[in-house]
Amino acid sequence: MSTEVKVYEHTTPGAARGRIRLLQLYPRDMNIYGDWGNTLVLIRRAQWVGYDVELTSYDPGEELPGAVDLVVGGGGQDSGQERIKDDLVMRGPELVAWAADGVPMLVICGLYQLFGHRFLTGTGDQIPGIGLIDAQTVAGPGRLIGNIALKSEDFGTVIGYENHSGLTTLGPEARPFGTVTSGDGNNGRDRTEGARVHHVIGTYLHGSLLPKNPRVADWLLARAVEHGGGTWEPEPLTDPVEEWAERARRVALSRPR
Ligand code: GLN
Repeated sequence: MSTEVKVYEHTTPGAARGRIRLLQLYPRDMNIYGDWGNTLVLIRRAQWVGYDVELTSYDPGEELPGAVDLVVGGGGQDSGQERIKDDLVMRGPELVAWAADGVPMLVICGLYQLFGHRFLTGTGDQIPGIGLIDAQTVAGPGRLIGNIALKSEDFGTVIGYENHSGLTTLGPEARPFGTVTSGDGNNGRDRTEGARVHHVIGTYLHGSLLPKNPRVADWLLARAVEHGGGTWEPEPLTDPVEEWAERARRVALSRPR
């Protein structure tokens, strides 16, 4: 197994306004329902508005980079969660320290669950989490599947797609990512969706989330640039990408669950 840090450079055509060190966690096991699209959006939007991105991916047993400005991780089946759990628990203290230092993070579904305290699976196994987010998850009797919309204070209406059996309950240290207006969210009962702590967002929204919600992408990029000591001064976007995102949002909202 390689122990080198794999770095992929994505440079902007002109003189860069800054540089973002982006880390993708566990792409081999935790990356379903288009979650990789979140990383692509972060790279492309950063380049379009003048920032270089240095992408590192991390799978179990590899080296973590010494410093990062942004962390992204996706969802996975219970079996994928089983495969990464020991490595994640070992890396937990580093991730917790980065989050406390203001590193923005986006973790979806399976990794969101394991950023909490624990996940009790349908077969009665307990998968330990790293406790970065004050939440715990217990498998429910069925799966919560479909398009989902939330209202969020910072991002307005957020749209995505959920598919999970785990039912998550937030503790007092976590505030929700948003309030569910259509769909199930954390547990189908209390209308909360996802969790936020420091600059970390945990959520059940696949979709992929960021192509349909560029405001969330830009918020993560802004926090990342600030974490690296720079200022977020994006060049204006000239492409019709906002229009495409708006169309995707309209279609998702109009579809029955
Ligand atoms: N295995 C977890 C669940 O079903 C996570 C699923 C996912 O990441 N989509 O609750």
